[in-house]
Amino acid sequence: MSSSSNRSYRSPPPTHCENEQPVIRQTSRTIDFPLRRFLGCVEYYNGSKCRTFYWLDPELPNDYYKHEVFKLIQKEKRLKEDKSSLNGKIRDLEREIDFQKATMEKEMFLLQLELKESKSSVNKSKDKSQWVNMDPISVI
Ligand SMILES: [Zn+2]
Repeated sequence: MSSSSNRSYRSPPPTHCENEQPVIRQTSRTIDFPLRRFLGCVEYYNGSKCRTFYWLDPELPNDYYKHEVFKLIQKEKRLKEDKSSLNGKIRDLEREIDFQKATMEKEMFLLQLELKESKSSVNKSKDKSQWVNMDPISVI
């Protein structure tokens, strides 16, 4: 392990950056430093020119490990994208189910209404005189 590259790793960690902003723990996802944690300015990813930087983890021992860890980062990213896409499909299917359910409930209500009317018309047809009075076609 090179002592010069790990100097900041061994010195006491900063709590604030050169611009008095608090530093926060972040994780590098670059091919050179995959999953290596560091302390950096809260504005680090917002384009801050702040140079306060402090490695929390030692560097991986060789390029083989770096490459393997970087591949895992990419795999995790793909899985997150797949998960997000599947969640979208689940939401679409849930909406489709809700729509189908509402349609079926409406159809069921209309069929029950039709059944009720049919039953009532059957009962009325039993009483001929009432049937003639109530049926608009017979009235015309
Ligand atoms: Zn800063």
